[in-house]
Amino acid sequence: MQEAIWQIGQVAYNPQDVISNYLQPLATKNKKGQPLQVVKIDFNLQLGTLELDVTEELDDNTSSKYCYIGHADAPSAPQWQASVKTHNYLLSQTITNLISMDIDEQLKADLKVLRDKFFQDIVFVDKGKEKHIYLLDLSSIGFTERNPKDIFNQQEGDIKKTIKVLSKEFILGLKEKYGITDKNIGLFVLAINGKTAANMATYQNLIIKEKKKVFAKGEKGCCSICGISEGLTADTSKLKMKFYTTTNLNFPSGFEKGSYRKNMLLCVNCMNNLTAGENFVWQNLSARLGNFTVFLIPSFLFQPQMDQKDLEGMVNKVQGTFNLTADMEKLKGFQGDIRMLLVELEQEDYFLMNMLFYRKGQQGQDVKVQRFIKDVHPTRFINIHKAIEKINQIGNMLLITLVDGNIGTENDGGDSRLSPTPFRRFSFVQ
Ligand SMILES: [Zn+2]
Repeated sequence: MQEAIWQIGQVAYNPQDVISNYLQPLATKNKKGQPLQVVKIDFNLQLGTLELDVTEELDDNTSSKYCYIGHADAPSAPQWQASVKTHNYLLSQTITNLISMDIDEQLKADLKVLRDKFFQDIVFVDKGKEKHIYLLDLSSIGFTERNPKDIFNQQEGDIKKTIKVLSKEFILGLKEKYGITDKNIGLFVLAINGKTAANMATYQNLIIKEKKKVFAKGEKGCCSICGISEGLTADTSKLKMKFYTTTNLNFPSGFEKGSYRKNMLLCVNCMNNLTAGENFVWQNLSARLGNFTVFLIPSFLFQPQMDQKDLEGMVNKVQGTFNLTADMEKLKGFQGDIRMLLVELEQEDYFLMNMLFYRKGQQGQDVKVQRFIKDVHPTRFINIHKAIEKINQIGNMLLITLVDGNIGTENDGGDSRLSPTPFRRFSFVQ
């Protein structure tokens, strides 16, 4: 399975634009189909003002324009990403975390100035220890009359509640002053003096450095995929699809905390390919089967001789052939498509399909595998289509008999609106 993702990653990885391999997709419309807006939070250090810009709508280029890479993997990990979908971190910890990271001195100095000007230092007690957190002073931009210290006192020193209140007041302020509700916001972006952090070279380098940080130790051994012996890491916790535990304390090698080197060791190249492969699978290979979500991952006998465009074309066809929600006329076409696809690819790029049934994890950034069916020949999809066709015919016959009306006649091609949906409930118990 890892090899299948790695193969896809070899095609999908772009060494010319390294950041593009880490970008995450962003929705451009909300559930109601309304366009989503970018909220730019711009700290102007010369004028000493904080300006909000809500004039830009999200489009397909927004993720690349603002280097959107998601947020830190674990909820407890420091959040430093300057383009985020939720605003809480920007109001509380992003600036402080960025200051402590490996960025250039000018940006560090600017961040310190803006932290001291726009944020308030709150001292709170956590597990008996005194800690500091800087919270954005919304009273300084006229969003509210209360500053963070007032809120903190009203919440009797509960820092979590304080951040919650602050967060609510920020969203309320956006609604009152700019007429925009949180349901219409797709991305928050940090900017300083009119320039977004995402467009600063030092921030882009930081993203790459953070992604490669796991190789700092340079472990020796044998890469689980290519066999190389140096510059390896056993830290696979950043991968979305976790094949081995990365947190269970019972399983580290030699009971050494956090070391899972006997499970999987990876070199930089293989990690890059796996990350790029996962991103590609995540963005292009998800399908639905009844109530279930499934990744359809092709596994090639030999490394496929294709570029990313070819791969995208191929997976579109595979997705199409698996589309079980289409109406019967289209399904018949798909059976032909599968045969065509097999004729096209069988000669040079013979492949089988892996079906990985999954649910998204709590953060929506990783997957929990429910069931894995490997090495499915694509012609199996034809059998599934035939079974659906048969069920539809029986369903239509029953409708004619029972309803005794005009719906569900034999000539309507089995309109999917009237068709019983097979696999509505699909039991994994065998
Ligand atoms: Zn390797």
